[in-house]
Amino acid sequence: MGKDSSDLLGSLFGELLPEAPAQVRVVPVLVPLPVPGAYSYAVPEGMYVEPGSVVQVPVGPRQHIGVVWDGENDDKLDPKKLRPITLAFDCPPLSKEMRDFVDWVSAYTLSPPGLVARMAIRAPAALDPEPMVEALRYLGGQPERLTPARARVLDLAGEEEIPWTRSGLAHAAGVSMSVIDGMTAQGIFETIFLPPPPVVARPDPDYAAPRIEGPQKEAAAEIVESIKAGGFAASLIDGVTGSGKTEVYFEAIAETLRRGKQVLILLPEIALTSAFLERFENRFGAKPGEWHSDLPPRMREKVWRGVVTGEVRVVAGARSALFLPFEELGLIIIDEEHDPAYKQEDRVFYNARDMAVVRARIGDFPIVLVSATPSVESQVNGLSGRYTTVHLPTRFGDAALPDLHLVDMRRHPPQRGGFLSPILLRAIAKTIERKEQALLFLNRRGYAPLTLCRVCGHRFQCPQCSSWLVEHRFKSQIQCHQCGYHEHTPEACPECGTLDHLVACGPGVERIAEEVEKHFPDARTIVMSSDLLGGVKRMRLELEAIAKGEADIVIGTQLVAKGHNFPLMTLVGIVDSDIGLSNGDPRAAERTFQLLSQVTGRAGRTGLKSHGLLQTFQPQHPVMQAIVSGDAGAFYEREIAEREKAILPPFGRLASLIVSADTRADAETHARGLRAAAPRVTGISVLGPAEAPLALVRGRHRFRLLVHGRRNSDMQAFLKAMLANGPKQRGSVQIQLDVDPQSFL
Ligand code: ADP
Ligand code: ZN
Repeated sequence: MGKDSSDLLGSLFGELLPEAPAQVRVVPVLVPLPVPGAYSYAVPEGMYVEPGSVVQVPVGPRQHIGVVWDGENDDKLDPKKLRPITLAFDCPPLSKEMRDFVDWVSAYTLSPPGLVARMAIRAPAALDPEPMVEALRYLGGQPERLTPARARVLDLAGEEEIPWTRSGLAHAAGVSMSVIDGMTAQGIFETIFLPPPPVVARPDPDYAAPRIEGPQKEAAAEIVESIKAGGFAASLIDGVTGSGKTEVYFEAIAETLRRGKQVLILLPEIALTSAFLERFENRFGAKPGEWHSDLPPRMREKVWRGVVTGEVRVVAGARSALFLPFEELGLIIIDEEHDPAYKQEDRVFYNARDMAVVRARIGDFPIVLVSATPSVESQVNGLSGRYTTVHLPTRFGDAALPDLHLVDMRRHPPQRGGFLSPILLRAIAKTIERKEQALLFLNRRGYAPLTLCRVCGHRFQCPQCSSWLVEHRFKSQIQCHQCGYHEHTPEACPECGTLDHLVACGPGVERIAEEVEKHFPDARTIVMSSDLLGGVKRMRLELEAIAKGEADIVIGTQLVAKGHNFPLMTLVGIVDSDIGLSNGDPRAAERTFQLLSQVTGRAGRTGLKSHGLLQTFQPQHPVMQAIVSGDAGAFYEREIAEREKAILPPFGRLASLIVSADTRADAETHARGLRAAAPRVTGISVLGPAEAPLALVRGRHRFRLLVHGRRNSDMQAFLKAMLANGPKQRGSVQIQLDVDPQSFL
């Protein structure tokens, strides 16, 4: 454990470990707690630490894992009065690059540096090397008595110089372990120790490179050029779904691997992209290291360690992979860069896409952003020349984009109690007649978003949140999608006591499935949503089944929108295209455009003629018009002009503060106090406080302030001053600070 065992190994191998200075030293250590800076610790005699070393330190009565940080210590501190570092782990220190990155993220998001650093070291069991694996090596010679069992062992192990594990050899030869041990005792085998097998094999950049031509070739050449040139460079691959963007960035990865550098690929929904991992393996001969929250802890530890030691060359991961302390990172790819899943809204509020650009700048290496519907921010960076944009305007091969049409729901209403227009139903019928697949998309889990009593009008609401309880019929529950509160679906109204008069209002995917089954009783239908029983494993299986054509009609939430390739899917129906348009979010139009393009892009990936039907009550809305005209350029131009006029991101800056407390009055008073403490600066103004649209979450009352600044304003200094001059945080009051917010609830 810790440094002691490695000291021993070090001296065994005659390595010279850096000598510890004679004097007692004091070092700053970041601890994983919400405190403003590093704490000072004494370095015990004989322990070697340097900035970046991962250590264990006491804080109060508890031990924490921390990182030795940069910076001077207070000379006035008497090392003898400081508590000593408990132990130093035997793992490479976090690089200067990584430490600078942590400091940068902490300063930008105004999060405690220890909480940011914790994201880089969060697998404690990975901090010490894995034990060596015991193995047997054949030394030559024959056993004293050649029994049939011994002969079988020799047959296997006596030929090649490959070491065997004791149990592996016994198993392969079909003998008991005692046979092996007997032979070892006779000096036929010697016991050796081998490093544990790597968590993933090394990817080979030239394993199966495809032929790349036309626009793909130009795009790849441009990006590979920037990799060869070295240094920071940001490129944006803007290409329609199925245009071959992945193949293009695989070229960039190959070039980086050839240069001996590590690669990070960020994906928004890694738990569901087994198809991606397979595709990577087909191209590079080995899977990338995986990193996401569904990975078993043991696997996470191995991947973390592999990344730090350089054994793992490529990681494909969710946003948290950005904080993996790579040994020598040389390229970051951000696939689906527009995806809201890159924003973390918990503890440290950060946008992994934006922070990845910072990571690349600090590390002085290239970054590639990839999307069929780039964010307005990235488009603007492309226009201003900060990013180099490469375009892939058409699908690869003979696949064509689907024909998109709007269904005006005012003119073609569904049957009473239904949500699917006759036009969409007819299209589904034709599609399944042709033995092709249809996808119905509705971004709403469960059966119905609201249940009410027909007699007294009572609406079922979460007792702790200001949100309706959503009925989930498969689970016979009504659930709060904010906090997870749930109860058995009631039969009687709790208000007036009337039995059997509760009605479901509005559709969720389960309800659409019911309607589909009524119209197409013989079709095979699958509902895909994140609350599918059986979790990620089941979802992966279902997605594979869909890809193989084992379903006729898929009804899904945005889970099916991302990245999947369903060869037989030729019809996509959007049940409610208007859903995200009017929620007070400045990005509502952009988000809706992106989501609808993404979902309709699931159709026609393999050359079959395909269609998209978008049900809407607002066919004249610019988003709907942009989608059907296929003129994304015009849509973005308008959107960019509007943002510029309103000085909204990326032309201006926003930060949001949510003040919450156990009582409404406490939250409001504190929020008002903060507002009063805001410095007077030209170029930055504070809006609010106002009760948040989600006024109550988990029993906490919420008020929000929105800080709006011009692009060149010092938002961080402003926010810091506001918090410092504001009222002392007392009682149940909590403040959540979100720089560059994506959510306005
Ligand atoms: P995107 O990432 O833009 O959605 P993909 O990279 O997934 O597009 O490409 C779409 C399809 O075309 C995939 O099935 C992919 O295997 C195939 N494809 C793309 N480029 C090539 C190429 N150069 N050679 C062979 N197949 C390709
Ligand atoms: Zn709730």
